[in-house]
Amino acid sequence: MTPIEVKPISGADTKYRAVRIFAASALLFCLPVVCALCFMAVAAGSAVAASQGAISDIRIGVHDGRTRFVMEVSDAVPFQAFGLEDPDRIVVDLPELDWHGPEAAASGGRGLVAGYRHGLFKPGVTRVVIDLIGPGHVAKLFQLPPSNGAPRRLVLDIAPGKSGKSATASKDWATYAASLGSRKASQPTTTEPQADGKRIVTIDAGHGGVDPGAIGRSGAHEKHLVLAMAKTVRRVLEATGRYKVVMTRDRDIFIPLRRRYEIAHEAGAELFVSLHADSHSRRSLRGASVYTLSDNASDKEAAALARKENKSDVIAGTDLSEYPAEVSSILIDLAQQSVNEESWHFAEMLTKKLAKNIKVLRNTHRFAGFAVLKSPNVPSVLVEIGYLSNIHDEANLRTEKFRERFAHALVRAVDRYFDRKEKMSRS
Ligand SMILES: [Zn+2]
Repeated sequence: MTPIEVKPISGADTKYRAVRIFAASALLFCLPVVCALCFMAVAAGSAVAASQGAISDIRIGVHDGRTRFVMEVSDAVPFQAFGLEDPDRIVVDLPELDWHGPEAAASGGRGLVAGYRHGLFKPGVTRVVIDLIGPGHVAKLFQLPPSNGAPRRLVLDIAPGKSGKSATASKDWATYAASLGSRKASQPTTTEPQADGKRIVTIDAGHGGVDPGAIGRSGAHEKHLVLAMAKTVRRVLEATGRYKVVMTRDRDIFIPLRRRYEIAHEAGAELFVSLHADSHSRRSLRGASVYTLSDNASDKEAAALARKENKSDVIAGTDLSEYPAEVSSILIDLAQQSVNEESWHFAEMLTKKLAKNIKVLRNTHRFAGFAVLKSPNVPSVLVEIGYLSNIHDEANLRTEKFRERFAHALVRAVDRYFDRKEKMSRS
């Protein structure tokens, strides 16, 4: 392991003197393709609370074969950076900051940088993911104090090629934001299950934070549209007096896929509904579809869709190694059989109710290996409400009128599902 000493810029805050970059090794994660090459840069000796100001601008430049990525920040902040490959990315974590800089989509790539995304990774941590055009590593990382009218800047120099040195997880910034993806990081956004006899349903708004999901023709992000839909569904479900809704997220924040069904399980949910909106190169394609878990996808399109949706953790630059590999898959399979049957029943009911109320795809109920549906305990379905690549579907998703129409259809299916369950438990 060879730490690369980064010389402090003269006049830099003393607390940032000891900025080091540790080159890190390729870590094999438990999911395929996700293999990482890490370097950790630590702004030492600073533990600053969340809500630290704002990023006001992003600039990208190329010098001597290196690509410089500059973030203008309003305040001195600690930060960490590491690299991931497959696809090649650099991840920069900062305290929770407001974003006043240009959106990723608005500014094209330059040098080694193909583009970037940003968002809340967990409470207190803003993440910027820099997509690279090929292998690259952080050659230098430093902070420049305000000078000559220029604001404070965080500077990353990205050089081509991997850095194959071994890993060091050097910690600070409140032990690197309390070890980032710690499994308790994202609590359910609604409190404990209530003992008032209400059925608990988990509504999962797909994507969030640094993972925008599909991007619509007018630039709308799937993550925002499905969150708005989830909130309408919660309101309409709870208005019946029969259900208590637990959301996996109720703001623009990233939640790892597996964490989503854990939230449902911990809340005692009896049903898990994940809401998404797809995008397709065939722009005329529109309508909703409902998916349940299967090893064998019902068709190629469903398999491709599952692959796309399963990339969420990769897009957000999650270190999946902190999740144990799926041990005892036989046990999970056994438990999952009855859960899968229940999921299937609910999906069939939902398909029928949706078909009566909104536009649906042919073969509305489909199957594929969606990671978010792998709950061993809670019957789960995933709904692609429509296509953001279709102007009618996208326009619909932007209106509360459509959201209510969808929500009422969903509630009728949920009612039928629990009516059937109650009938069966009586007989
Ligand atoms: Zn999605």
